[in-house]
Amino acid sequence: MLRLLLACPLLLTALAARAQTLPVPATLLLRPAAVFDGQNLHPGWAVLVEGSKIKAVGPAAQLTAPAGVQTLELPGLTLLPGLIEGHSHLLLHPYNETPWNDQVLLESAALRVARATVHARQTLDAGFTTARDLGSEGAGYADVGLRQAIDQNLIPGPRLLVATRALVATGSYGPKLSADVAVPQGAQEADGVDGIIRAVREQIGQGADLIKVYADYRWGPNEPSRPTFTQDELNLIVRTANSAGRPVVAHASTPEGMRRATLAGVETIEHGDGGTLEVFRLMKQRGVALCPTVAAGDAISRYRGWKPGQPLPERLQQKRLSMQAALKSGVALVVGGDVGVFSHGDNARELELLVQDYGLPPLTVLRAATSGNARLLHLADRGTLAPGLLADLIAVTQDPTQDITTLRQVKLVMKGGVLYKQP
Ligand SMILES: [Zn+2]
Repeated sequence: MLRLLLACPLLLTALAARAQTLPVPATLLLRPAAVFDGQNLHPGWAVLVEGSKIKAVGPAAQLTAPAGVQTLELPGLTLLPGLIEGHSHLLLHPYNETPWNDQVLLESAALRVARATVHARQTLDAGFTTARDLGSEGAGYADVGLRQAIDQNLIPGPRLLVATRALVATGSYGPKLSADVAVPQGAQEADGVDGIIRAVREQIGQGADLIKVYADYRWGPNEPSRPTFTQDELNLIVRTANSAGRPVVAHASTPEGMRRATLAGVETIEHGDGGTLEVFRLMKQRGVALCPTVAAGDAISRYRGWKPGQPLPERLQQKRLSMQAALKSGVALVVGGDVGVFSHGDNARELELLVQDYGLPPLTVLRAATSGNARLLHLADRGTLAPGLLADLIAVTQDPTQDITTLRQVKLVMKGGVLYKQP
């Protein structure tokens, strides 16, 4: 995707120009074949947009539009809320292009930000009008600047929730070179009472919408993940962030890391690859959601040579088992793929794999990626098509509630009433 777009500079220019020059109709009536409102499919419905908001949604025949209103006919298409990406890294690009270590150590901030502007456009173009971006991975507070550039209409991109630098326990993260060489880390190291309070406040002061903490990680190469922060430290991170009105999310894949993060009061656990039924039940009991990022594991397995159809590598076998436990527990799911590990714009891969490899019905996944993510991420102004909510809409071919792969055929993208893409 990235290579394709880079090979077509004219297309990029055209998209950028369109994003900034398309006129915003004061009122627009969209008439698709069907509307998915975030919950159910309604054939024959239409949506009326006024300015940046949705004015009305309902059966086309009953929808009273003002005289002379501009109408956009969308025959054969399904209109639905803009998708919400639950886990991205706009400042990373696929690891099979450049290993993570090299991105953090060898790529300049300017290069990484320039790439990220392309990633933002690709994300929006794929129908994801909001993204929760979970860590700049060594690029400091560049995600805050990206969010500002998008909000100020300097570049097209999704509405962003950003985590900024993320928090790691000293010595637990990377890159790691020789013990004699101190190298910049992919996240901010912080420990103990004073260190943690200061780091959380720093990140919030610089623009973090939420705090991300690594509750476990590989302490050294070629070893399994183990817990990093103590229970007291995690509790303090959550207390400090929550008192400033910011939620905390945790990277965790071990049962103990997940358990500590859950008890500390994080809102979501990212990955959860080693999760057990017991810990998923604890999460459900405490109202903690799981963002399983199945696409990241799939991508990394492919980078290591695995191909679909071959026997599953241990990593994917383990993920199948833990997802069975997660689904059995009834824990709420945030849909997010860890995009950046794989190509931006390929965000639908997570939704497809949840259906194809993990057996979730398309309707369940579609609800989760729209109204579900909005609810779990406290975005009450989007994720559902209803009067008064943001006019963040996309249109895809045919019926995504039956065939999730139709999400690859995004024909229209509107964000805040502005059309970024139309048939
Ligand atoms: Zn991630």
